[in-house]
Formats: sequence, C-alpha cells, structure tokens
Amino acid sequence: MHDKRKLLTHRAINIALLCALSGSIVPLLLPSTAAREDAKQQTTSAATASPEPARDERLWQRALKLHRRSIVVDTHNDITTMMTDDDYDIGTSSVGKYHTDLARMKAGGLSAEFFSVYVDKKYAKEGGSARRAMDMIDQVYRAVERHPDEFMMAVSVADIRRAKRQGKIAALMGIEGGHAIENSLSALRDFYRLGIRYMTLTHNNTNDWADSSRDEARHNGLTDFGKEVVREMNRLGMLVDVSHVSDKTMSDVLDVSRAPIIASHSSARALSNHPRNIPDDLLRRIAQNKGVVMVNFYPVFIDQKAYDADRARDERLKPQLDRLREEYKNDPKRLGEEITKLYAANPLPPTPLSILIDHIDHIAKTAGVDHVGIGSDFDGVPSLPVGMEDISKLPNITYELLKRGYSETDVRKILGENLLRAFAEAERVARSSSRSVSGEGSLRRLNEGGR
Ligand SMILES: [Zn+2]
Repeated sequence: MHDKRKLLTHRAINIALLCALSGSIVPLLLPSTAAREDAKQQTTSAATASPEPARDERLWQRALKLHRRSIVVDTHNDITTMMTDDDYDIGTSSVGKYHTDLARMKAGGLSAEFFSVYVDKKYAKEGGSARRAMDMIDQVYRAVERHPDEFMMAVSVADIRRAKRQGKIAALMGIEGGHAIENSLSALRDFYRLGIRYMTLTHNNTNDWADSSRDEARHNGLTDFGKEVVREMNRLGMLVDVSHVSDKTMSDVLDVSRAPIIASHSSARALSNHPRNIPDDLLRRIAQNKGVVMVNFYPVFIDQKAYDADRARDERLKPQLDRLREEYKNDPKRLGEEITKLYAANPLPPTPLSILIDHIDHIAKTAGVDHVGIGSDFDGVPSLPVGMEDISKLPNITYELLKRGYSETDVRKILGENLLRAFAEAERVARSSSRSVSGEGSLRRLNEGGR
C-alpha cells in the first residue's frame, strides 16, 4: 500500500483519467500530487447502484430553504493542491475533473470553506515543508483576489458571519501535516499571522513530535514539544486538529488542550473499522472538551464494505501491480495511467449516501448533536458516495437529516454552528491567555535528538 501511495502521489496522476464510471458519478481527473488520504486511484461504479428512492418534493423544498439560511461550513477541501500545482483558477468550471469550483460551491450553498494547506510527507524528508505551505497560502489569497465579489478572506467567526451577510463565501485555511512548522514555534506563530486557523498535528506520517494513525508510533502520542505546540496553538487561537493522528496522540491532545479541538475530516470507527476513524471513547472525550468531529465523506473510510473491498482488491491485484511497477519504474506518468486502468477494470462497490448520514447520526448519538459537522475531503479523495459526487451536492445532507427527523436547529448545528461555537471558544481562550507576548515562556525550537 505504501509503495503504491508514494508512486501515485506523483504529478503524473494529474492526467490520469478515472474512467469506466457511469450513472451519476462523474469521471474525475485525479488531483495532482494528490489524493491526500489514500494516494491511489480508485473507481466506484454506480452502474450497479440501486435506483435512488423518489424524493419527497415538499421536504426537499424545506431542506433547500433551511440550507440557504444556514451557515454551511466545510472544514476540509484539498482543491488548494490543484490551485498550487496547476495554477487552477477556482472560478473556472472543473466539472468532470475536480470536486470543487466556485459555481458548484455556490450551488452547494457553502458559506465557509477551509482550504487545506496540505504538505506532503516528502517535504518532511527532503526539506521545504514551510515553503510549500507558504506557496499554498499564497494561492488561496490569489483566488480571493481574483474573485473578490464571491470570496472573502476570513480568519474569525465574525468574518464568517460577515461573509454570509454579504453573500460571499468565507475562505479560511488549515494546515494539514504538523511537519509544516519545521519544528519551530516561531513558524507556527507566523502561520497564524498569515491566517491559518487550524493545523492537523500529523498527516499519514509520524513527525518529530506526534504519532500518526497510519505510521509507526515513535513517541507514544505527543512528545513534550508536541504538547508545547498544542499549548501555543491554544494561546494563539489556532484550532488543534486531531484528524490523522493516532488514538494515543488524540488522547494526549485532549489532556493538554484548554480550548475545544476539532477533527477536520474524520468519521466514526464503530461503523467502519479504519484507523483514520475515531473510536467511541474518544468521541465522548471530544464532547467533554466541547470539540467537534467533522465527518469525512470518503467511502473507504466510512463504508466497511468499500474498505474491505479495497483491501481485497489490493491483495488480488498485487502480482499485476508489482509487474506494472517493475515495467514502468522509470516512467511514473505511464505507471499512473496503467494503474488507473487496472483499478477502473476492478471497481469497488458503490457507497450510498445513507452510510455517510449514518456516521453523522452515530456521532450525534454518541458524542451529542453539538459535536458533529462536515469535513468533506473533496479533491483529497478519489471517490465519493452516490449522491455526494461533488460540492454542489451538500444540500442532500440537509434533506437526509430532516428525513431522519432532525430538527431544523440541530441541522443548522451540524451544517456549521457547532464549528462556529468551538472556534469562538478557541478565540475566547486565546484572548484570555495570560501570556500575551509571543514567545513568552516559549521560544523553543525542536533540535536534533530533542523531544
Ligand atoms: Zn487528510
């Protein structure tokens, strides 16, 4: 898996066409350097999906009205990588290619987007993590400059509410991968000053101060420096994001953080046993912390059937994959294309939207309805549930929640108010911090061998 993931993060993927898709699923070009979650191509055929049940038109109209009135926040979108690597202008249509563009964000009734400043683990090895993050931050600012009537840069809860009043989409930023700060609290502060409002402490790689859920546990959770990073984020008012970290890291964060934390794009492990998902005991602790878990849409995470099928397929195709890797080891572009073809010929079963709603429902029942939201992972994953193929489909979540009997107040919480509440509390904790000068008590930089 790891080799494949590495190979497929190559830019070559950029031009790899996900084919053999049909029905309501649009073939997509895979993101460049992409597929943050599981950097491999994958197809999900809708051909065998059972027909969608007829929509209750009155309920749909009610859902649309509620959705438009609500503040709708998506806390994780990886379109930033395409904006950076391909100079993709989000104002132009990318239908059939990416999950996100401005017109579809509007169609989806989105109020605020957290653009993911995703720093691949290769930068942790080769150097340049902070520079990569800064390049991506620049792209978000440039997108807002290009489209000032549609977007507004936002760094606070007040900004998000103002953008909504002005009919604009609030553009926020979160770092994905704590190695982006290059072990420097000064860099962390600088990122805050540039507008970064959350940071996942790790990506799929364990870094020098925090263990990841998808890598070797080297620190038994957070190191002392890692705890200092969390405290400094609290002091600044940057949300601590536990998506991607190991269970022990998450538990350590919950011990240390004085402010509510978030999981910007994570789902429930009780429903699908994937290490990226959060177990019930930690969901309850996040509730005690007044934090929020923003549900990830990726079928391989949320659908046990898709996860099992994905693993079985990897096992089954291993000889062919190994052969391709050997044959095209000097031609990563061709290799990406060949692997795409192989997966397209071996699609995973489709995942219905109801499974995504089940995760929201489970977290609402386990942690409480005040502690769940949406963190799509659009353009960071190669496939999506039927009925949630791109960002324009967000109102379907509102409809499905109403259908399950959620009150309008609770739906609004899930769509965005929960995130705003946690964010506002993190802002309050920062304001009330006794350390008001940057670096007071903390000028530390993690050196070689230090903890
Ligand atoms: Zn991620």
